[in-house]
Amino acid sequence: MLAETSKAEQGNLFEVYNPATGEKLATLPAHSTEEVEEAVQRLRIAQADWAKLSFQERGSRLYKLRRLMLEHREALMEVLVAESGKPRFEALGEILYLSDIIGYYVKNSARFLAKKKIWPHLLKTKRTYITYHPVGVVGVIAPWNYPLVLTFGDSCIAWLAGNAVALKPSEVTPLTALKMAEFCKEAKLPLEIMTGQAETGAALIDAADLIAFTGSVATGKKVMERAAKTLTPVLLELGGKDPMIVLKDANLTRAVNAALYGSLCNTGQNCIAVERIYVEEPIYEQFIAKLLKGVATLRQGIETAGKANIELGPMTMPRQLEIVERQVADARAKGAKILTGGQRRTDLPGNFYEPTILTDVTEEMLIMQEETFGPLLPIIKVRDAEEAVRQANHSRFGLSSSIWTSNTAKGEALAQQIEAGATCINDILVNYLIVELPFGGIKESGIGTRHGGAEGIRKFCRTQAIVVDRFQFQQEVNWFPYNKKKTRLLSFIADFMFKRGQ
Ligand code: NAD
Repeated sequence: MLAETSKAEQGNLFEVYNPATGEKLATLPAHSTEEVEEAVQRLRIAQADWAKLSFQERGSRLYKLRRLMLEHREALMEVLVAESGKPRFEALGEILYLSDIIGYYVKNSARFLAKKKIWPHLLKTKRTYITYHPVGVVGVIAPWNYPLVLTFGDSCIAWLAGNAVALKPSEVTPLTALKMAEFCKEAKLPLEIMTGQAETGAALIDAADLIAFTGSVATGKKVMERAAKTLTPVLLELGGKDPMIVLKDANLTRAVNAALYGSLCNTGQNCIAVERIYVEEPIYEQFIAKLLKGVATLRQGIETAGKANIELGPMTMPRQLEIVERQVADARAKGAKILTGGQRRTDLPGNFYEPTILTDVTEEMLIMQEETFGPLLPIIKVRDAEEAVRQANHSRFGLSSSIWTSNTAKGEALAQQIEAGATCINDILVNYLIVELPFGGIKESGIGTRHGGAEGIRKFCRTQAIVVDRFQFQQEVNWFPYNKKKTRLLSFIADFMFKRGQ
């Protein structure tokens, strides 16, 4: 499918498979440390010119990329679907969402990165402001679950801020990024794609000026450790274990539909997937009955071209299937009930696992402690909202969450008690799609500046504080020499400025 490089001939290769059919799609080079260093050097040269372009010019290049992506969406979706196994509808969703990110940041980047005036509250004789500069070469290290949005979302924003981008897509799904690289070349964007595994990622951490990492908690910790050696700044978007709290006055049909979509879209391989469902006692049985009916209507398999005839694909990465199996086996052994699903699909060729509803789950089970990233829906009966919030917060993750109730005021009040980067009331996953909002987790779900809004582009900049003296007196009161008169003056200023607050 793809041309192999000289490195490939030397044998430093890896293979990419279609997870739905098991078909081999490509053999690619794993870029070495030297190749990563050379690529970053090339980008440093390109970045110097790129940073000189106006926001308008950079924006027009991004619009060109968007145009090309939309024009060639069929070809792009073909690659995306082949390497991830996801339904075409979801692949198209990625294209749509990336288009929105580009539009939002092209429209707003000049404003977000404009010189920002600051009025000092103490030193009124100074004129001060903040300026934003590109950091240089941004290294984007991406996972496999959204091969388009999680590779090019950060890249597009980093470009608009004046940076060059070295992108390391996941070794499981690198082909979407390589397809996009063709459009990026045509749009003249400063990009180098570094295919490979952990070693290639580690080399990028050493070489880049900032790392935007999206992936698991375990790898995130390794990335931070590695970055400590060069003090490279890192932004970490990590895993989740999102709770959904369904109160007894919720619109049950909407809540059940949301539970199905929230847990099973992209076959549950979503950082903000619903992974724990807490349901208030009076509606618990009804909720489960409706959920079972709903799950039975979902179609899992390999999509027939042009038919949009599945909701659920395979697990994209074979290791993910093993994680799901291990969690179900552990839950079973510790007394959980499997109401539906609970095994691999042996009737299909690829990495398919049945959507699985579990009850009688307890805090000791792996399924409640670790991220699943698969099609499992553990349901927990709770006495009341307070118990639900307490249990929801009993997690080392804190990415997103949702509350379901017809009393939105109560939902909003409860949201304040949830330990998570976001909480939706009567909706699911949607906070991620609102590009103006900050997106990111607390606890082990991530650190660093969030996606979205002004901070979402400022995170790819270094800030510079500028101070201009307005009057140019011969002396400032705090400069040498010290004497009694100046000490009394300083004391007077302290009283005048700060005593009133006592
Ligand atoms: P992963 O951590 O295994 O890999 C992520 C990337 O890191 C890959 O490109 C991989 O090659 C690279 N990598 C691996 N070891 C490395 C090392 N030592 N140094 C540098 N790079 C290294 O994650 P994954 O399995 O690809 O993705 C799934 C995870 O991503 C889940 O935990 C999911 O929750 C998380 N995720 C988080 C968000 C978010 O926004 N918070 C979004 C999507 C996915």
